[in-house]
This record gives sequence, structure tokens and C-alpha cells, in this order.
Amino acid sequence: MQSVEPDEETEPVLAVEDLQTVFHTDRETIRAVDGISFEIRPGETVGIVGESGSGKSVTARSIMGLVESPGEVRSDSSIRFNGQELTELSDTEYNEIRGSGIGMVFQDPQQSLNPVYTIGNQIREALRVNQGLRGEAAREEAISLLESVAIPDAARRLDEYPHEFSGGMRQRAVIAMMLACDPEFLICDEPTTALDVTIQAQILELLDELQAERDLSILFITHDMGVIAEIADRVNVMYAGQIIESAPVDALFANPKHPYTRGLLGAIPGQQADGEPLRTIEGDVPTPNEEATYCRFAPRCPDAFDACNAVAPAHVDVGGDAEHTAACLLYPDGETEETRVSHHQSLGTPRDDTGETNE
Ligand code: SF4
Repeated sequence: MQSVEPDEETEPVLAVEDLQTVFHTDRETIRAVDGISFEIRPGETVGIVGESGSGKSVTARSIMGLVESPGEVRSDSSIRFNGQELTELSDTEYNEIRGSGIGMVFQDPQQSLNPVYTIGNQIREALRVNQGLRGEAAREEAISLLESVAIPDAARRLDEYPHEFSGGMRQRAVIAMMLACDPEFLICDEPTTALDVTIQAQILELLDELQAERDLSILFITHDMGVIAEIADRVNVMYAGQIIESAPVDALFANPKHPYTRGLLGAIPGQQADGEPLRTIEGDVPTPNEEATYCRFAPRCPDAFDACNAVAPAHVDVGGDAEHTAACLLYPDGETEETRVSHHQSLGTPRDDTGETNE
């Protein structure tokens, strides 16, 4: 469901560079996001996909400035929104960006809706704060926003409370509230995970339409490869705090390179022959609490070899163009194991996933 052609020549709306978000405990420091980099260009939908614990939601919260103690975005991380460095903003300045430039849709719409106010109250409040609208003008605009997210009988629905809406309707109402802030960039963190398949498809279609109408850039976070295939232009696959493969969506699905990506794609239900069990990736995502001096996927990787436990894979070009990279010691293709391993040793950690390989 690719809506608008991203313009590769223009400056990115969002540029994340070497983002490191850690959580301090009494005993250790968890590297929840461990040096990831990616860009989102105007009108583009970039997906982040991975299992629970991969760091994708912490990435979203880091961009939104919502990481609280004992969490911390490390000082050498960079998050630039339209060229403005967000990691240096005060709380007040961040609030302004959250209120206007960047919107966020969470998995659970209840996180964004106040149960004691009507839907109309909450949308009108967003319109008052962000657009200065009041009274009848705010009501008319609120109705128009609810209609734009395909809520039927919007004028009546405006006076209902969140509990009177179904799950899908609540998520639409949250999206309407986001639109009241007229954002340029939307972060969607598992926005369809709690919804049934039909409603999920409707929400994805709605986001696609809104993106085309409003020229939105979207960061879409999910564990669901099927959803990513529907919505993303480009995809970053995350594992244990790192991006391990990055590619245009078509290239990723047609030619997945990293064993983890292959495992995720192989686990999509419906691909097995009759009677064949569902394929899974054995084991769990590790909690990264030390620098990656080896491949964090090694304990689960069917292709692992000795060097995987001793060398941190760097991103290398794997797809014939600079937009498809993977951090795996199996690449570059066509080289001996010794050459590949020494190539990765010379490149360092897999910190650069912007499409500019470390080669
Ligand atoms: S570096 Fe080794 S363990 Fe890691 S994904 Fe590649 S083959 Fe598997």
C-alpha cells in the first residue's frame, strides 16, 4: 500500500543517527536501542519490524522524547526533525513539537484518550491548543475530522465517551485527535495489533489515504511482517536493539538476506503445506546488556559458525544497491569465510543503516 512516491532528493523529515537508549538497573545497563540509524523522507512510510524486546517501541519513545528515568537517550545520539536536533530540546520545546510537528498513535488507544471526557471534548481541546479554534468553529472542525477518519454519524458520536466506541473506532478517534494537531510526521506504534483483521485492514487503508491527502511521513512499528508488506516503502528489521537488515519493502520480501529476516518471513502463517507445523524461530530475543562484540542472533541462527560468536557483524551491501544492507557475516556474497570475517572486523559495529554502507 505505497501511497506517495518518496522524494529521494529532498532532506529527510527525520534523521536518526547512532541512537542509543539505555535503562539503568542496580546490576546492569540494558542497551534497549544500541546505535541505530535511519532516515524518513517526506511522504514516505518507513517500517520497523521485530519481535517483542527488539527495541522498536523504545525507538519510538526516544524520538518522541518520552523516555523517563531510569531510561536515558545517550548524549552522542542524534535525532533530527526537519534539521532540528531533538535530543537538545527542553521539555517545553519538546511538548511543542509533540503538539504540532510529530503525532503518535499507540497500540492501545486508551493511552491517548481520557475516559472521563467525550471524544468531542478531546478533539476540540486539541484544536484549541494547536489551531486556536473555539466554539462552533472547533465543533465543525471536530466533526470534519471524525468524518475524515470514516466515523459514521460524526456529529452524534462527538458527544460520546471513549467506552462507547469499539476498539477500531477508538483508534480512529485517536488518529482524528492527531490530525487536529496537523502533524507532518506520524509515529504509529503497533496501532493495529489489538484489532481484528478486518478492522486492521481498514485502519491501514485510512492511514494510506490520510498520508496521500496530507503528505504525511510515517514511522510504522509492528511485529507483523504482513502489515509491513501492506504499508511500508522501506523496512528496518530490528533485533536486540540493533537494525540488522534495511531494504525497500519489495527487495526485503523478494530477497531477504539476514537469517533473522528469513526466519520472520518463514514464520508468517499460511505458507506451510497442509499438515506442516507452523515454523518458528526457537529461543527468545536476548536482553542486550553489553557492547555487541559478536552477533546477538548467533544462539538462534541456523547458519551460525564460529566467528559469529567473536565478531560483531557490520552492515554491508547485500542487494545490488546501497539501499539494501544487512549486518551478517555471511556477506558480502561470493567471498571466502576468512575474507568476509576480516571485512567485518575492519568495518566495526553495525551502526550505519541509512543506506550508506560501511564499505
Ligand atoms: S552473523 Fe552469523 S549468527 Fe549472525 S546472522 Fe549471520 S550467520 Fe547468523
